[in-house]
Amino acid sequence: MKHTRKPIASVRSRGEFALINDIQRVIGPTKGSVVAGIGDDCAVLRGADPNTYLLYTCDPVVEGIHYRSRDPARSVGWKAMARNLSDIAAMGGLPRWAIVSIGLRGATDVRWVKQLYSGLQAAARKFGCQIVGGDTTHVKHEAFVVVAVIGEVEKARITLRSGAQIGDSIFVTGALGGSLRAKHLAFTPRIDEARWLVTNFPVHAMIDLSDGLSSDLQRLAERSARGVGFEIHAAEIPIARAARGNLAAALNDGEDFELLFTIDPRHVTALRRKWTREFRVELTEIGRVVRSTRKVALVGRDGSKTLLIPAGYDHFATR
Ligand code: ADP
Ligand code: MG
Repeated sequence: MKHTRKPIASVRSRGEFALINDIQRVIGPTKGSVVAGIGDDCAVLRGADPNTYLLYTCDPVVEGIHYRSRDPARSVGWKAMARNLSDIAAMGGLPRWAIVSIGLRGATDVRWVKQLYSGLQAAARKFGCQIVGGDTTHVKHEAFVVVAVIGEVEKARITLRSGAQIGDSIFVTGALGGSLRAKHLAFTPRIDEARWLVTNFPVHAMIDLSDGLSSDLQRLAERSARGVGFEIHAAEIPIARAARGNLAAALNDGEDFELLFTIDPRHVTALRRKWTREFRVELTEIGRVVRSTRKVALVGRDGSKTLLIPAGYDHFATR
């Protein structure tokens, strides 16, 4: 009997967004102690303390993808930890415990591993997080470092991707683009800034920019209520020096690890005034949350409005 096979869908053709949806369908719904599973920067869990939530996140770095073999091991360690801390920051939380799994070729210099851990530990210690274990495996080809972090956040201060309200102002910290040329191995996760924000202001929604503003804003939009749209202004996007004035780089380059958040415009004056007293990092209002079925729009310098295409980093789409 002849039977037709379904064509094979590769993960490349499916893309990262769709693949995660497929995974979510296999796992099915969460229940009980899970406040939020797949879909935010961290999973949100009920622990023993009635006043706080636990935050749980996990991010790998892989040789040849997130770092080059010749990059300093200490920087690789810093990056591997700091990526995870950035996700804890995005929820308004404080990092508490980390587990680190590494895959190494047998010929790897032990000094490389020690330097890797001095970088991991430096980032963890700076933000009050303790490395409490992990696992070690042998690899034949590319090395990897997988860090999982548990954080904590007061229930009253947790900030999800989903809370944007029509009329909100949209802000980003720092300047965007060109990270690969400059800071991707040495960025500061915005834990201090995020904690200060959620302690002093009613932040409605927050995400960390890991794959590029155009893609991460799309993620925020997807988690937002129906009819909630986002308009950002090309002229207002803070472009990092490393992006050399290139707006597309600021919109689409990954690994900025800055915060994007929305807040009621009534707080904007106070926010700006107090922020400058507290931090040296820039804070820029880049747009507004609007009533719209078009999820994310880019307003050009000439006032024209176009759909913002998510063209940030997708692990499979462009490879
Ligand atoms: P981030 O970049 O902040 O880690 P993403 O937007 O890339 O988050 O991921 C979206 C959501 O998908 C997150 O909640 C994350 O936990 C989940 N996710 C990503 N990959 C997997 C996977 N392989 N299995 C289960 N969940 C995943
Ligand atoms: Mg994130």
